[in-house]
Amino acid sequence: MKIGLFFGSFNPVHIGHLIIANFMATHTDLDRVWLVVSPQNPLKPKKSLARDYDRLHLVRLGIGDNSLIEASNIEFSLPKPSYTVDTLAHLKEKYPDHEFALIMGSDNLDTLHLWKHYEFLLANNDLYVYKRSPEIPTLAQNPRVRIFEAPLLDISATYVRECLRTGKSVRYLVPDAVFEYLEGSNLYRD
Ligand code: ATP
Repeated sequence: MKIGLFFGSFNPVHIGHLIIANFMATHTDLDRVWLVVSPQNPLKPKKSLARDYDRLHLVRLGIGDNSLIEASNIEFSLPKPSYTVDTLAHLKEKYPDHEFALIMGSDNLDTLHLWKHYEFLLANNDLYVYKRSPEIPTLAQNPRVRIFEAPLLDISATYVRECLRTGKSVRYLVPDAVFEYLEGSNLYRD
């Protein structure tokens, strides 16, 4: 199977993430999409970052019964901070029958050269890129890069957290099951 990996903090997951994941799973040749939840970086301030397993749980709730999308906690057990190239090496060893591709917004292409071993990454993996602005980054010329026009929503986890912190509703910004869970919890409310 060809699996698209969509990395993020998902702090919390919102419908912007899920629309991209579902688009990639249904409008491209990817068979599945895994939402890879990044662990807390022990060197970074944790103030507004919910615990790893809370964020993973919310991602699972958000995916619901969609069999094309899965949550992955693979990075929780890897050395931190986790670099994509190392996570990929680990995944390829663990799942030798799968092919892995990376899903990212076109804004990420501009800074890809700062990633650990980015040339190796690009030489060995396909990048499924969704356009986030009309400009096409130079790296889009690379044969490993495929550009898609997915529906875009101007939503961020920062905005969702800010709503929760100030007691505003996040209904419809996150999937219903995530909304209900958040309503009954203290997450992101200080
Ligand atoms: P924060 O506001 O906390 O920085 P975020 O909403 O950007 O979070 P991340 O967990 O950092 O969420 O996102 C994971 C990936 O999803 C990143 O590559 C990010 O660029 C992308 N992404 C985030 N929000 C959207 C959106 N509304 N539409 C498309 N892609 C998004």
